[in-house]
Amino acid sequence: MSTAAALDAADPLAHLRARFAGAGSDLVYFDGNSLGRPVAAAADRLSEFVQHQWGERLIRGWDERWMELPTDLGDDLARICLGAAPGQTAIGDSTTVWIYKLMRAAVDHAVRTDPARTEIVIDTDNFPTDRYVAEGIAAERGLTLRWIEVDTSAGVTADQLREAVSERTALVVLCHVAYRSAWLADAPELTRIAHDAGALVLWDLCHSAGSVPIALDEWDADLAVGCTYKYLNGGPGSPAYGYVSARLQGDLTQPIQGWMGHADPFLMGPGYAPAPGIRRFISGTPPILGMVAMQSMLEVVEEAGIGAIRAKSVALTSYAVELADATLPGVTLASPRDPAQRGGHVTLHHERMREVTARLWERDVIPDYRDPGGLRIGLSPLSTSFDEVERGMAAVAEALR
Ligand SMILES: *Cc1c(COP(=O)(O)O)cnc(C)c1O
Repeated sequence: MSTAAALDAADPLAHLRARFAGAGSDLVYFDGNSLGRPVAAAADRLSEFVQHQWGERLIRGWDERWMELPTDLGDDLARICLGAAPGQTAIGDSTTVWIYKLMRAAVDHAVRTDPARTEIVIDTDNFPTDRYVAEGIAAERGLTLRWIEVDTSAGVTADQLREAVSERTALVVLCHVAYRSAWLADAPELTRIAHDAGALVLWDLCHSAGSVPIALDEWDADLAVGCTYKYLNGGPGSPAYGYVSARLQGDLTQPIQGWMGHADPFLMGPGYAPAPGIRRFISGTPPILGMVAMQSMLEVVEEAGIGAIRAKSVALTSYAVELADATLPGVTLASPRDPAQRGGHVTLHHERMREVTARLWERDVIPDYRDPGGLRIGLSPLSTSFDEVERGMAAVAEALR
């Protein structure tokens, strides 16, 4: 038996791969960290939704289920993937909009409490949207961005954060898993460092939820956001989620105070009065249709268990690294070598990776490319086999030759 076949035979989650539409084809999918494959059962769920929930219940659906869906599904997501108690997570909007709302709420609260807190600490390799929104908020509120310069093949360390925070810090913005390198941040330690300096922390979980265990409550996290179309397979443009710790909800005011965050939306009264709890962070009508497919994925994640998913993820990325070392001369690893410091993808560096990526796409091998010279191999744990990794890495070797 080949190594890949032996690894697949020993994989306790191998049977779950058949739950994903298209996973049985010869195509090698190395981009489940950007857009997860659909769970096959999502097709029936969507059809049932259109025919029965929408088609028959019509406007009654809002009273019967949809008004509560952003927070009910938020609680499911929190239990299955985020390590968070109920009442702290809501689904809706895009990650970018959640980042804006929670960043603004956090810095306004910090400045109100202590006007000397005028800085947002963020790293230079944070995801573009996080950096751009921070830039906009700094301009809007007269704040300063304090940049942590990071190695693009690693991420923010405890020492770096300790040096950056001070009595001037209002908010620290960090990614749990770095989108480029897959650096897995030491979230409990970094949260503690920010708190010791009196600052709040916003965690971006886009590249970790569904692939890496998260314990927001245990970390004593303040705020978090993430998308649902990567490892949570919600489909293109499926809505994001926001988490606000219960201990902060009453103190924070979000900037897009729409009718759906009102204490009594159908009172349609003259002024805004925020709903209690996490509901006040909702703005407009929730995107119910966009929440259908992710429900199928959450069921599969719960069945597998996040611990087992992480174990398979580590095995998959370790196998990809082993093959890269053995078969790709001139290629260097632009991700942490220690699996304990690495999330669910692996980035390989070579100056010709841009053209290599184009050649691979022509052959139905689908990774993605990130400057500088990075071939990003995303290994969505439940829908990727070791055989797929072996075939894909052989194609990378051939494309490089
Ligand atoms: C994918 C991703 C986003 C995406 O934001 P959208 O508003 O959904 O486009 C944000 N942050 C990180 C870290 C990401 O990986």
